[in-house]
Amino acid sequence: MYNTEQPERPAASRHTSGGKENTELGQITAYLRNGNSTELPCRAEAVRQAFFGNRVFLRGIIEISNHCKNSCRYCGLQRQNTSLNRYRLDEESIQEAIAAIRRFDLQTVVLQSGEDPEISADTMARLIEKIKSKTDIAVTLSLGEWPESAYRTWFRAGADRYLLKMETFEKGLYRALHPGMDFQHRLDCIYRLAEIGYQTGSGIIVGLPGQNLESIASDLIELRKMDLDMISIGPFIPHPATSLAGYPAGSPALTSRAISMMRCLDPAVLMPAVSALAAQEPDQRHQALQAGANVLMPNFTPSNQAAWYEIYPDIRRSGLSTDAMGSALAEARAAGCTLDYSQGDSIKIKEGKR
Ligand code: SF4
Repeated sequence: MYNTEQPERPAASRHTSGGKENTELGQITAYLRNGNSTELPCRAEAVRQAFFGNRVFLRGIIEISNHCKNSCRYCGLQRQNTSLNRYRLDEESIQEAIAAIRRFDLQTVVLQSGEDPEISADTMARLIEKIKSKTDIAVTLSLGEWPESAYRTWFRAGADRYLLKMETFEKGLYRALHPGMDFQHRLDCIYRLAEIGYQTGSGIIVGLPGQNLESIASDLIELRKMDLDMISIGPFIPHPATSLAGYPAGSPALTSRAISMMRCLDPAVLMPAVSALAAQEPDQRHQALQAGANVLMPNFTPSNQAAWYEIYPDIRRSGLSTDAMGSALAEARAAGCTLDYSQGDSIKIKEGKR
């Protein structure tokens, strides 16, 4: 096990620009520490209102495969987990799930998967082409690290957006949590996706073993520097089949403060209230909406498979689209927001800011 007390210091770029950046790091760390302050969430909500009004954008998510060749230590899909039933949706099941998404008038689908060696770039490209030929739905991919040629092929096939989370920008911690993976390569993938033309997203996990408030603050600064279209911030939840099973979960309240800070640092970014927040405490997702998040992602994975996409344990996963849509509506209402059924493109792209 790696040393959770003293993770290796982060990328050299982090503190090299001198006093100004260190001052900002200190200020953000102080805001994250101050759990009783209402100033930060209030400011974040005001920023969200100014840029997006009270709209919450919807994306229907389909988890197309839970096979993964990787060994991320926090993840229940890691290849070492032999207790998990593995599945890979066939094209008919994916198209049925997309039809369900359309019946609810959603105009964005997220196709998410572990890094499944049995899925080929060409198969994905054909699937994307078929989806785009039948409907004008926006297609977001979250398929992990692939060669640049695959990213280009899928973009030509019609894919619009890509999510690839860094999870942490602490190089030492990244290495400890991701055996066999390379920090710089993952970062390069994200920049390559943006160059190709995808609306690009990344994100972090809050509360990872070995992380501290300053490293979370530093991660938020790194995310701002990347000028992303989408940022996902969710809490660490230990999975019992992983080597991190005995560690405490990340705090939902701290996660919400990180979301608020991110909203203030990067006002125009799209930011989901992730399902991991609700896995611990049911009302945390609408609290995240009140703290500056503005996206919900109801799950349309077929109910027979949904329970097996177990990155973290979540007894609330039903995979029933009606339940998922009902929850989204209830959470938006509880936060005083309205659901927006449009494609919800990045306003950075739409307004030519990038
Ligand atoms: S986090 Fe992603 S890449 Fe890592 S084991 Fe889980 S599904 Fe695979």
